[in-house]
Amino acid sequence: MIRVTNYQYIRNEAVSSSLQNLLNNKHLYQSETITSKALAFKETYGNGKPTEQAISEVELAKKYFFMPWNFICDTNNEKPNNDDIVIPNIETYCHLCKTRTAFKAISSVESSLHIPAQSEKRQVHLLSFMCQKCSITNVDFAITRSGMKLTLVGRSPIETIEAPPFIPKALRKYYSEAVIDRNAGATLQGLFMLRTLLEQYWKSLNLRPNPSRPTGDELGDAYNESLPDDFKQRFPSLREIYAELSKAMHNAQSDNTLFDNSRSKIDEHFDAKRLFKI
Ligand SMILES: [Zn+2]
Repeated sequence: MIRVTNYQYIRNEAVSSSLQNLLNNKHLYQSETITSKALAFKETYGNGKPTEQAISEVELAKKYFFMPWNFICDTNNEKPNNDDIVIPNIETYCHLCKTRTAFKAISSVESSLHIPAQSEKRQVHLLSFMCQKCSITNVDFAITRSGMKLTLVGRSPIETIEAPPFIPKALRKYYSEAVIDRNAGATLQGLFMLRTLLEQYWKSLNLRPNPSRPTGDELGDAYNESLPDDFKQRFPSLREIYAELSKAMHNAQSDNTLFDNSRSKIDEHFDAKRLFKI
């Protein structure tokens, strides 16, 4: 059970961990709502035998959530007071270090929008972070707060997705772009990039299909024939994935499930090729 001693602490911790989850794990135009965390607090607290003081702290915390949120950086220059929410460290991709690593907030600009007709508090935050490994790279985020909801509305540079190491090097850029498209809600483009990945892979193998200018399907057939029977029986077929992707594209079908399934089958196929050195 969490011991409730300070309503400001409850609010600040809940907002801070939601912000961290938004920037670490969510993608452009996705949101993080704080309600569930605030309720979790209430439920945890409800299971125990709260003192009268604890009850009033939680009641205060609930009201306090709706007040303006003031984010500050955890630097020597700024001394937080109880109303400030210290921006947590986050983990994101550094283009210089070429890896996901820890970033620390170095600047925070906020604009509160007081719209009398709207009961929900609206705020816009611009947060700038610096890589803790190289101390050179910055990543900037734009976030809106609407009531209890934080939404990631902008980021620079664009999100980077690292393709798994078993994906051939020349294909990794198609893989990363496909996942970025899908994360940003452009799933049809993502399906197209996965299909491009397969075509480019087959072209790179110098297979010898019958026609001099083979279609993707013919390249897929030639590839399939080049694989050992045992491998074909045990692992997903790129030729079949290609056919499903083509069908979705021709029907302009923006299908997230198809994307996720195709991606995991492509992973499985290439991982198996690496494992069996095929
Ligand atoms: Zn770095």
